[in-house]
Amino acid sequence: MAEAYDDQNVFAKIIRGEIPCNKVYEDDHALAFHDISPQTAVHVLVVPKGPYVSSDDFAAKASDTEIAGFFRAVGKVARDVGVDASGYRMLSNHGEDAHQEVPHFHIHIFGGQDLGRMIKPPK
Ligand code: AMP
Repeated sequence: MAEAYDDQNVFAKIIRGEIPCNKVYEDDHALAFHDISPQTAVHVLVVPKGPYVSSDDFAAKASDTEIAGFFRAVGKVARDVGVDASGYRMLSNHGEDAHQEVPHFHIHIFGGQDLGRMIKPPK
């Protein structure tokens, strides 16, 4: 069974304006902000405005309008931060094996440097 959405998670608080973020972009469907602990030269998070726990929850429950709006925003954010020409990697962690930390669906955009191929194996 899918995990219930916890509206006290940190991204829910950022969306409601209860805690600050370093905002990159916002529209009706999405909010994008710089990751607080960047892993690469460019590391931006894009979150949908709606209450979705993970990519799985979003894919199953979000409306077509929300899904289209969200992914349009992801593309716009990548262009806005200037990584569309050089390339970037999108990543979304879902659940325990992926070590998802924040239970509000988000896509990481990594770029601004050579990212290597795919992912590093765990140590
Ligand atoms: P994940 O493991 O995919 O759930 O990643 C969660 C990400 O959220 C991590 O990269 C954190 O550095 C980032 N993060 C946590 N709190 C904040 C915050 N207040 N503002 C920006 N990024 C955050």
